[in-house]
Amino acid sequence: MGFLEEIQRRRTFGIISHPDAGKTTLTEKLLLFGGAIQEAGAVKNNKIKKGATSDFMEIERQRGISVSTSVLAFNYQDKKINILDTPGHKDFAEDTFRTLTAVDSVIVVIDVAKGVEEQTEKLVAVCRLRNIPIIVFINKLDREGKDAFDLMDEVEQKLGLTVTPLSFPIGMGYDFQGIYNLWEENINLFSGDSRKNIEETIAFSDVKSPELEKIIGEKPAHKLREELELIDEVYPKFDRQEYLDGKLQPVFFGSALNNFGVRELLDCFVQIAPSPRAKDSETRLVDPKEEKMSGFVFKIHANMDPKHRDRLAFIKIVSGTFERNKPYYHVRQKKNLKFSSPNAFFAEKKEIVDISFPGDIVGLHDTGNFKIGDTLTEGEIMSFKGIPSFSPEHFRYINNADPMKAKQLDKGVDQLMDEGVAQLFTLEMNNRKIIGTVGALQYEVIQYRLEHEYGAKCTYENFPVHKACWVKPNDPKSEEFKEFRRIKQKFLAHDKYNQLVFLADSDFTIQMTQSKFPNVKLFFTSEFE
Ligand code: GDP
Repeated sequence: MGFLEEIQRRRTFGIISHPDAGKTTLTEKLLLFGGAIQEAGAVKNNKIKKGATSDFMEIERQRGISVSTSVLAFNYQDKKINILDTPGHKDFAEDTFRTLTAVDSVIVVIDVAKGVEEQTEKLVAVCRLRNIPIIVFINKLDREGKDAFDLMDEVEQKLGLTVTPLSFPIGMGYDFQGIYNLWEENINLFSGDSRKNIEETIAFSDVKSPELEKIIGEKPAHKLREELELIDEVYPKFDRQEYLDGKLQPVFFGSALNNFGVRELLDCFVQIAPSPRAKDSETRLVDPKEEKMSGFVFKIHANMDPKHRDRLAFIKIVSGTFERNKPYYHVRQKKNLKFSSPNAFFAEKKEIVDISFPGDIVGLHDTGNFKIGDTLTEGEIMSFKGIPSFSPEHFRYINNADPMKAKQLDKGVDQLMDEGVAQLFTLEMNNRKIIGTVGALQYEVIQYRLEHEYGAKCTYENFPVHKACWVKPNDPKSEEFKEFRRIKQKFLAHDKYNQLVFLADSDFTIQMTQSKFPNVKLFFTSEFE
């Protein structure tokens, strides 16, 4: 197979959802279709359950699992599918945001009874910012839930999408009979005694035919015809280009648990979802078809075995081919590196590979060379864009609790920050360190890992910050900026890239500061202009 065909057949995507909507179940069913696993239950849910906050072993166990489920690859028809895992728990949202920089499209799973939930809103907002093509899967149709039209309204309003159904449920919950597939124009009946895994597909291009009554009954047939008419009038026709441009989002209905409606979703997905897309770097747009290799680090995983301190850096290949033992240029560190055992990921395992293509994820063993966002090339000096830090939501001072282990603490904190576990800010005034996180859970994870991986002990102390604002003065030499620095002295810090950050204690303070210092711009993510 040629290079271009290899690119064309790749589909690298993420499944996003609010916890419990059915992401893990759907992933598993997709793997079953791909023949990548033989039975249900093989994919572990790596979410951290509520209440397990202090159960470190649980966290560790789950982190271990999430290494292997970070990338799940399989072949389906003639396509190579790479599913990137995205943690649903809100405390790990940053991790998910970063993973979204490496996907070419997403499937959003929504629970038919719960509708659009908080995490779904946040994640879809990030996808929309980047115009990532989105397919919506409405799950758990075997249960009573919201009316399909109401739900599509909700999806449009809360998520700001423009939807068009490509499948539509016939009944719901107890009366759920199956799905009309508008994409393939057939009916899939959900039947059989156990109502489980039994599927019968009946081609049905003309719903006006009286056959419909015979198959699903008089009332439901009548209702379905009305609904299909309404769909025809109200929703736009599916247009692949609009979907690829992020302007139109197809919707599917089904039940992941019962493996119903999943094949329809997958068959349509492999046809319409994009192959690897061009990616913006700070200097230029990089096309996957370019011969020279380029890629970026979007995730770093620590090795859980304390005897092997190396980590695994996950690289998304953007262009060219990544080859074993070939030197690549680490742009930030300005040096060439060679990798003798790059890993590729399959269903549940990783293997050493000789060559990888655009769209693929390669795992590189790393002893501390990589940070999230680093770019590898064949010598070109460029950096991929799009891995910003967002303002954390929690802030605490970190104190050394064991004076003999100060070095270990510094090293541990440094490395954990490189992994993207949390953000470090150093106060200008006194060099005290502040750790900012998205969720309170991270503080426990950090404390535990510092102790077990680096032999260091820490304590925390509250620091009342509402938001971190990245600061950029119009003129660094202006009196206004000097005055800003003088007044805000106690709240100024540097992030790990040495950018100036103002730690504001309230929205009110931010507003006051903005009106008082109009020429000192405040930003809420680390990547601006
Ligand atoms: P995740 O947190 O999004 O990964 O959700 P899971 O895949 O772990 O599913 C959460 C719960 O919903 C589990 O108990 C699943 O068995 C259940 N579930 C998933 N899909 C369906 C479905 O189609 N119907 C029903 N009734 N339950 C489902």
